Amino acid sequence: MIIDAVSVFPEMFEPVMSTSILGRARRAGLFEFHAHDLRDWTHDRHRTVDDEPYGGGQGMLMKVEPLAEAIEAIAAEGPRPHVVFFTPCGSPFCQATAERLATYERILLVCGRYEGMDERAYAFADERISIGDYVLTGGELPAMVVADAVIRLLPGALGDEMSNRDESFSTEDDGGLLEYAQYTRPAVFRDMAVPDILLSGDHAKVDAYRRADAIERTCRWRPDLIDAASLTPEERDRARTLIERYHGRQTSETE
Ligand code: SAM
Repeated sequence: MIIDAVSVFPEMFEPVMSTSILGRARRAGLFEFHAHDLRDWTHDRHRTVDDEPYGGGQGMLMKVEPLAEAIEAIAAEGPRPHVVFFTPCGSPFCQATAERLATYERILLVCGRYEGMDERAYAFADERISIGDYVLTGGELPAMVVADAVIRLLPGALGDEMSNRDESFSTEDDGGLLEYAQYTRPAVFRDMAVPDILLSGDHAKVDAYRRADAIERTCRWRPDLIDAASLTPEERDRARTLIERYHGRQTSETE
């Protein structure tokens, strides 16, 4: 996979893209990463990428011409990238989006700054992504969040291929639930003991316990995920009871 980012602060990416799992996957050739400086597509002495908004208002906006030229030039290197713009007005980012983005041969992450972009720049976007209902100073952190979530899904990026399947929100085996609770040594810490069943060595019982725990944790902390989760009819009945217990009679999993 090839991941490109275009930004006025391209130097922000390298430490993240060369550290830990991402760095290892990159060195192993699982993905290429290129950070491009938007100012390379300006034509004035000051390398200007922003200007005042028409109609007045606070702050500066990113100009459309450098963004358009950058995207066209990067795309022309081929293969044509799937172009993602970051904005608080985009679709909320989630694991299913990461799974879809991981299937593209090449993605181009376009990072905003200042008060955002001239609206006409979005004509060059294949999609707009928000990483949450809050406002950051720039699109670089959102781009790194998305890149990290995508890269760890690439085959071979994590040592153990199964570790992606078990994780929270995974649309594979666990059907969109939160992950079950996990423990490591010691078996007892202060007065907190690891559940006996996890020490039993009985894999079938451990699997059943973890599945039930994943459902319980999801009902407790993210009941909004239960409707879309893959559950058996018996599990759905239990989920209804748990949601009622944790959130009261007024709250159903559809709220
Ligand atoms: N004026 C914009 C608004 O109210 O929607 C916010 C602009 S923000 C200060 C500057 C840039 O940061 C945006 O263009 C976007 O690229 C990035 N950004 C900020 N918050 C974001 C978020 N929650 N998700 C994705 N990108 C974000």
